Amino acid sequence: MAYSDDIRKMYKDTLQGIMDAGLFKQERFIHSPQAAEIDVEFPIGAPLKRVINICANNYLGLSSHPEVVKAAHEGLDSRGYGMSSVRFICGCQDIHKELEARLTEFLGTEDTVLFPSCMDANAGVFEAILTKDDVMISDRLVHASLIDGIRLASALHDTYKHNDMEHLEQKLQLHADKRQKLVICDGVFSMDGDTAKLDEMVALCEKYNAMILVDDSHSSGFIGKTGRGTHEKYGVMGKIDVITTTFGKGLGGASGGCVSGRRELVEMCRQKARPYLFSNTMAPVIVAGVLKVMDLIMHNTERRDKLERNTEFWRKGLTEAGFVLKDGDTPIVPVMLFNAKLSQDVSRDLFHEGVYAIGFFFPVVPQGAARIRTQVSAGHEMHHLEKALDAFIKVGKKYEILGKTKAEIIERYGN
Ligand SMILES: *Cc1c(COP(=O)(O)O)cnc(C)c1O
Repeated sequence: MAYSDDIRKMYKDTLQGIMDAGLFKQERFIHSPQAAEIDVEFPIGAPLKRVINICANNYLGLSSHPEVVKAAHEGLDSRGYGMSSVRFICGCQDIHKELEARLTEFLGTEDTVLFPSCMDANAGVFEAILTKDDVMISDRLVHASLIDGIRLASALHDTYKHNDMEHLEQKLQLHADKRQKLVICDGVFSMDGDTAKLDEMVALCEKYNAMILVDDSHSSGFIGKTGRGTHEKYGVMGKIDVITTTFGKGLGGASGGCVSGRRELVEMCRQKARPYLFSNTMAPVIVAGVLKVMDLIMHNTERRDKLERNTEFWRKGLTEAGFVLKDGDTPIVPVMLFNAKLSQDVSRDLFHEGVYAIGFFFPVVPQGAARIRTQVSAGHEMHHLEKALDAFIKVGKKYEILGKTKAEIIERYGN
């Protein structure tokens, strides 16, 4: 028996340590479809509570949209349940190619290849297109999946300070001798909800002959005037060499992702990216669902326009109530509390008030930057947002943080 009592004890102690540090991740169970209102079992065994969900990535409110659900059913009926193979052995279905073509059109790129997830797209893309003679220069706040993909690549890695264009330029100069230089960032950064300055970044990349990769997972479908993404917002469509994104957020919220961009770079992924070669491709049912999502948003901006209006209302309401927010204009609206315990207390009280919003603290965000990250959805109606705002104000009053500055909150609660 290899799993001895000693070994078991070692893991138990480790888990207890995580618990003692207050870092144990406790799952909550949702007993309904993902939507603006959900039925949550929390704590485990407690009766179900109907709450307004303001912490999902369901930006366009499409996770349970009847037309998407119907299209998924039809896909299931016409193309079956599973592929039972990776693509380079059995191939893929016509609908997979159709979705790749739709994404290429939507994102304004040259070609697209699907991956089982954006995590997989990011895991595969760097090693597929770079060698040890190249350098990857990434923003210091990029998503964990980009960090993992960078780790799997043999190219040299360097970073620049978050959104600091001067520092990025210094790094581009420092690495001028490398064969290829690839600048890497998130389009919208998931914890702060701020955006990469893609216009300035593209100009720098052109000046120093570098390529640029943007992970637009928190943007695709709603950032930019027609929802194409951060590159549309900054007027640089067609100039981003590689876009990676997910279908697990705004684009229906199920799963799957892609690499989209320059034809040769996408082809390199088909030839070399390991998650593409060695992991099953997306299930037909999900491909059919995402195709319907593309139908709904390709020539119709109603949902992203509603999301924009909802976001304005939500940011304005919280600001006027006297909360400290992170500046920005994306649907990610962090309510800053600075103290880890305070973020947990506020989250718990909000839940009692019928609002589901989770507190984030170190190591998910920097030490002393604890917050409640709220995320607005086009699935929210005004009455949801009004009720959620009332709950925030009630709880904010209880903890006496309304109208208080960052320094005052930290003085009272610590950080
Ligand atoms: C959520 C997210 C991912 C992971 O997407 P999955 O398709 O769920 O694997 C990757 N990158 C960023 C920036 C994300 O926010």
